[in-house]
Amino acid sequence: MKDYHVVIIGGGPAGLTAGLYAMRAGLRALLIEKALIGGQVNTTYLVENYPGFPGGVSGPELMQKMKQQVEELELPIITDDVREIRPKGKSFELKLTEKTVSARAIVIASGAAPATLGVPGEDRLRGRGVSYCATCDGAFFRDKRILVVGGGDSAVEEADFLTRFASTVSIVHRRDALRAEKVIQQRAVDNPKIDFIWNTVVQELKGEHKLAEVVLKDVKTNELSTLKADGVFIYVGLRPNTEYVRDSLKLDEQGFIVTDEQMRTSCEGIFAAGDIRSKLIRQISTAVGDGATAASMAEKYLTANDKI
Ligand SMILES: Cc1cc2nc3c(=O)[nH]c(=O)nc-3n(C[C@H](O)[C@H](O)[C@H](O)COP(=O)(O)OP(=O)(O)OC[C@H]3O[C@@H](n4cnc5c(N)ncnc54)[C@H](O)[C@@H]3O)c2cc1C
Repeated sequence: MKDYHVVIIGGGPAGLTAGLYAMRAGLRALLIEKALIGGQVNTTYLVENYPGFPGGVSGPELMQKMKQQVEELELPIITDDVREIRPKGKSFELKLTEKTVSARAIVIASGAAPATLGVPGEDRLRGRGVSYCATCDGAFFRDKRILVVGGGDSAVEEADFLTRFASTVSIVHRRDALRAEKVIQQRAVDNPKIDFIWNTVVQELKGEHKLAEVVLKDVKTNELSTLKADGVFIYVGLRPNTEYVRDSLKLDEQGFIVTDEQMRTSCEGIFAAGDIRSKLIRQISTAVGDGATAASMAEKYLTANDKI
């Protein structure tokens, strides 16, 4: 079994930055990504708030550049799914789909996935009008009527993007004001294809083979109404990818990993970075900061404990 100084779990901005710092610190590192390198940013049409890119940069392009930078340093990357982490002597064993790798320190950067609404019809109609990714699915809705559920940055930005295809986009939000950045809000307000349905939640998604109708509930009056729609894009928060550490690390009430400022988790030798962490702002800029700190602290931990 191959023994690494540090294994990084996840190839989003936090994991790739941890990889960059680990390689530059001369560590024997490995990055494991179960899907596509780039993480959630791959699902973002345009990133406008990551410094260094005036006018913005497409999500996939930004992640391609981050990937290229770690490839230049020859960071080994494998595609696999980390299923379990077990302490073994002074190291850790990571159980993957079919093999096991050994690490003296770990950086967990497995991020988050979109939260679901949990309403009837959602699972059944997923991929048949119900989506969590405008960049992936938006083009299927040319001249169609779309609802976007949520009021944060992702919901409002992606609603704006979807107007390139859709005839109308209605933003359904459970409150009477958006949470999104002011500049993003203003763009949506100024967009003639966007309207807002305030104080409203989705109660049910209906349709036989594909989405046809959305049942809405006014949270103030409890009144139900039905809207015809071809697509529903859901942006109502995040679900942390922590299944494999649920029983071994301290998590907060929402299931995110609790760390200190040095990205140390409740288990010595395991660090966490990015959206997986219990924190206030989940963005690319904060993820890369966490990744840099986590890898640097992992290197200090390995040196202090004679593990290099
Ligand atoms: C639609 C949308 C738009 C956004 N727009 C912006 C924006 O404009 N600006 C901005 O700053 N932020 C934006 N964000 C937020 C930003 O994408 C995240 O904050 C950032 O991607 C977090 O990076 P991360 O590396 O922590 O996690 P992620 O990007 O979630 O990456 C985690 C990676 O870990 C992998 N993984 C998960 N479990 C395992 C496992 N068990 N084994 C191996 N690999 C695993 C996943 O496949 C994934 O690739 C947006 C998010 C969304 C969803």
